[in-house]
Amino acid sequence: MADLPVLQESSRGTYVTWLQLNMNGLALNYNEFPTNGIFDQKTSDALKNFQDRFTIDPSGSTNAVTWKVLNNNVMAVQKLLKSRGLYDGAIDGWYGSKTEDAVRRFQSESGLYPTQIVDPRTRQKLFNPHPKDHFETRPTSIDLSSLNPRVAAMARNFLELTRKHNLDVRIITAFRSWEEEDKLYAQGRWTPGQIVTNARGGDSYHNWGLAFDAAPYEHGKMSMDVAKFKQMGALGEQAGLKWGGTFRAIVDYPHFQYTFGLNTWDLLNGVRPPA
Ligand SMILES: [Zn+2]
Repeated sequence: MADLPVLQESSRGTYVTWLQLNMNGLALNYNEFPTNGIFDQKTSDALKNFQDRFTIDPSGSTNAVTWKVLNNNVMAVQKLLKSRGLYDGAIDGWYGSKTEDAVRRFQSESGLYPTQIVDPRTRQKLFNPHPKDHFETRPTSIDLSSLNPRVAAMARNFLELTRKHNLDVRIITAFRSWEEEDKLYAQGRWTPGQIVTNARGGDSYHNWGLAFDAAPYEHGKMSMDVAKFKQMGALGEQAGLKWGGTFRAIVDYPHFQYTFGLNTWDLLNGVRPPA
């Protein structure tokens, strides 16, 4: 995998096509870029999103680390497909037509929609076929007890802090079901409305009990005052949470999370926060 080129916006050629095929195959094609060998804005956004996920400097260009992590992720998929007898191609880190075919066959025999890409549900079935904790079938809840116990404790501390500052903060969502997440993902893509998330079911921290949404209220109604949201966000950060108001991709004022340093692919792959 030596000497892969540094690609950035306006780059063109075969390596851009491979970059696009890999990102598409790993379900990073949130904004539907074509695999055409032209490094456009959407390709760049997807790449930044990927870099963000793996805490690589989100430059939007393919430095050596980015290529390595991207190719390693494809190789992990190829190895698992090979071990199941579905893939006889090379473990080369490129999401080509043989990998696509193998993923489609895996999806067909697993009762998954044959998208040919490693969407979150496919990832879970492939990497973690028998999860014991059944996050994928849990219902949406507003109750903090639906969260990871440590995140729930942080949320309670945060609410306590807001009360001390005379803010009436209420929880809007704690755990969110994968099904509901898929509906949110569809919004602005194939159902009406604005795009509100880049996460499919299983790809949001809400789907793992590691995130919740909250909002300041005034006179019994949700506040429209950005300053109040910012005050709330600062108090959440004081409680040790990461606030969505600081997100780069889609700024999300009501959102708080604590991830234990795991990304959602880790969780889908079967890695769990410490008990
Ligand atoms: Zn949220």
